[in-house]
Amino acid sequence: MNEQEKWVRVDRPFQLPTYVREALQKLSESGHVAYLVGGCVRDFLIGREIKDYDIATDANPDLLCKLFPMAITVGKAFGVIKVPTGTQPPLLEIATFRKDLDYHDHRRPEGVVFSGPLEDASRRDFTMNGLFYDPKTNRILDCVEGVEDIRRKVIRAIGNPSVRFREDALRLLRAVRFKTRLGFSIDPETAQAIRSRARLISKVSSERIRDELTAMWTGPHPGEALTLLSELELLPVVLPEVEALKGVVQIPSYHPNEDVWSHLIKMVEMLAQQTPQRSATLAWAAILHEVGKPVVSIKNEGRNFNGHELEAAKLADKITQRLKLSGNETQRVVALVADHLKLKDVFQMREATLQRLLREDHFEELLALHRADTCASDGNLAYYEFCSSRLNQIKNGSQIEIPKLIDGRDLIQLGFSPGPLFSEILATIEDLTLEKKLTTQDQALEYVIKNFVR
Ligand code: ATP
Ligand code: MG
Repeated sequence: MNEQEKWVRVDRPFQLPTYVREALQKLSESGHVAYLVGGCVRDFLIGREIKDYDIATDANPDLLCKLFPMAITVGKAFGVIKVPTGTQPPLLEIATFRKDLDYHDHRRPEGVVFSGPLEDASRRDFTMNGLFYDPKTNRILDCVEGVEDIRRKVIRAIGNPSVRFREDALRLLRAVRFKTRLGFSIDPETAQAIRSRARLISKVSSERIRDELTAMWTGPHPGEALTLLSELELLPVVLPEVEALKGVVQIPSYHPNEDVWSHLIKMVEMLAQQTPQRSATLAWAAILHEVGKPVVSIKNEGRNFNGHELEAAKLADKITQRLKLSGNETQRVVALVADHLKLKDVFQMREATLQRLLREDHFEELLALHRADTCASDGNLAYYEFCSSRLNQIKNGSQIEIPKLIDGRDLIQLGFSPGPLFSEILATIEDLTLEKKLTTQDQALEYVIKNFVR
């Protein structure tokens, strides 16, 4: 490796939150070196909003624990403590400069030895993440040519890329996430190493894979992330069901030679444009909404995709469980996938059915999904516009609650006992109320007497 210490002056000051300044000052007053390091320095140079701060220091972990008595010390053996900030983000990470020992499970080093900044930079993943910022002199310590790579917008592994990906396979996905979130390119040698190490991603826990993928899907270019994951041969390992959409002919196809895969890429990019702030569940539902097509296409001998949304819902259930999304998230993704074609039925729906659909928890996300799907196919926004305007009516308070004209007690007074018929009567009355065919309690009681009392 040709790392060497190089100091680069910064042309503008790094504005730091008070808790970061105080921590840096405390370390400095105790006679120690304290630098900011990693993503916060990268994002400062790019001019991006900073998510969290990390400090690297030559103070040893025992001293860190004394200086920061409130710290969480679970990572102390690795030289890391986490100090509660009392604000967002909740923790500030402070770590002693260190060098990693051998990696044994493609994820974590067996241990660390405390060292200086040069070794500490060398254990980090990409050159853009290996920079230190010295707040005292307003300079950057660049041992890995990271400043130049940031200027060129390049993601390059520190050291030998192939070795670095073998050590810790999570870096494979981090590279893709950074590329699609920062709009950088991946250095060719680094990209080649990702491809050749792609299968190692199976050694990484589902939770870490899930978090990286979620960050890609909720970012500005989920379609680009999909394309890149596939090109780098990671997609067949992490989401083979989505890779399988390649080459499946889209029916109907609105563009020549369009397969389901290219429709999906277009659709998720469209969603990102139309709904920049979207939940993880909406983003996952978009990625998974077509996975039923290959199965159904074979069943229907390539004639149509009838029933593909139900097949997709089954697969989405399996995939989200495999990737350890929470129970609630899984349920939401499955519901969105299963219902993603429902909006095309709104003009034929009974008013009561429509009202129920509009009031579903996931309806707004369903609307966003439908809109993006439509814009990536036939462009017919009639269903979208109709549903949006009906939803607005509800939101504007003209139809806040479903009025309850009668309840179980009224039925008991009429001589009914709780059971299936009981529920059927209440559902019927609710439907007729939603359709405004019944508007008063008297009308509802009369309807029950006429139609259900024998
Ligand atoms: P962001 O917080 O925006 O996702 P980041 O680069 O700050 O990006 P963190 O996970 O917060 O990522 O890690 C902080 C720093 O720790 C990184 O910038 C990098 O220097 C180092 N780092 C994190 N994960 C790894 C890894 N798997 N291998 C090597 N170094 C890593
Ligand atoms: Mg970070």
